[in-house]
Amino acid sequence: MALVGIIGAGIGGIATAVQLARYNIESVIFERNSVGGLIRNAYSVENTMFFPEGIRGEEVVEILKRYVRKYGLKIIYEEVKYIEKVDGVFRVQTNTGDYKFKYLVVATGTKPKKLPFDSVIYHVAEVPKEHYERVLIIGGGDVAFDYALSMSEVADEVIILMRSEPKALPYLQNLVAKRGNIKTFIAQVLEIRREEKLLAKTNVGDFKVDLVLGAIGRVPNVELIEGLNDDNLFLVGDVKNGIYRQSALAIADGIKTAMMIWRREKYGSIE
Ligand SMILES: Cc1cc2nc3c(=O)[nH]c(=O)nc-3n(C[C@H](O)[C@H](O)[C@H](O)COP(=O)(O)OP(=O)(O)OC[C@H]3O[C@@H](n4cnc5c(N)ncnc54)[C@H](O)[C@@H]3O)c2cc1C
Repeated sequence: MALVGIIGAGIGGIATAVQLARYNIESVIFERNSVGGLIRNAYSVENTMFFPEGIRGEEVVEILKRYVRKYGLKIIYEEVKYIEKVDGVFRVQTNTGDYKFKYLVVATGTKPKKLPFDSVIYHVAEVPKEHYERVLIIGGGDVAFDYALSMSEVADEVIILMRSEPKALPYLQNLVAKRGNIKTFIAQVLEIRREEKLLAKTNVGDFKVDLVLGAIGRVPNVELIEGLNDDNLFLVGDVKNGIYRQSALAIADGIKTAMMIWRREKYGSIE
């Protein structure tokens, strides 16, 4: 079995595995969905310093797949259900297998905070690619504004509803302000009802829309590692970065983690 197990094939997990491969250290990545993770939802990634004109999240995913092929990374497409440390090794369990590793890297990212309504989609990449008359986005942060930019290209009208002043990057707010088909309101959604379309009842009026996207924040996927603390357990990317969720930080975490694992293997210490 490989020396290192990595949970999550988002940008953080892939960065870790690539850097480990450069040290000739074998790893196995577990992924419950597909390579790429959250970044596939990004309208335009501009702050990694390599793409000044921006690059679509979907294109970033294609680049990550090229890394997987180039470095021959081993990915097991299964959800990790349980982790424990027994006799000095990590035991990783999926529905069909039981794996052992000396080092474990948890790059499981985040999940969306949910609204108390049905019919809400939380990831723009899951929206069927077709034309919409009106789309409602709930949230006032970077992700809500980013989703609005994506949806404004396929919808006649996009409405962003937020409870208070927007918290999105001024850069994103400026881009949104320039799109004639995006409107923003400070409002509270009271109910979403399915009629022939979706009817969102708010304190500033009713909106009939084709779909509702929720972007009210995210929480880390830490359930697997609750109570587990170990020098050979590393957290990488959004799962550990709190409100500082950025792909460049996930990449940096992954590379640094691989460097530390190599040092510990070679010198017995990461100093
Ligand atoms: C709309 C939007 C726009 C963004 N724009 C930018 C931007 O412009 N610039 C920027 O730097 N960042 C941006 N980000 C943030 C960026 O996407 C994240 O910081 C980055 O993708 C986090 O990578 P990660 O590898 O830590 O986690 P993730 O990408 O979330 O990957 C975690 C992976 O772990 C898998 N997983 C979780 N649990 C398990 C399990 N138990 N078993 C198996 N697999 C599991 C998941 O399926 C997922 O593939 C944006 C995010 C969004 C939503």
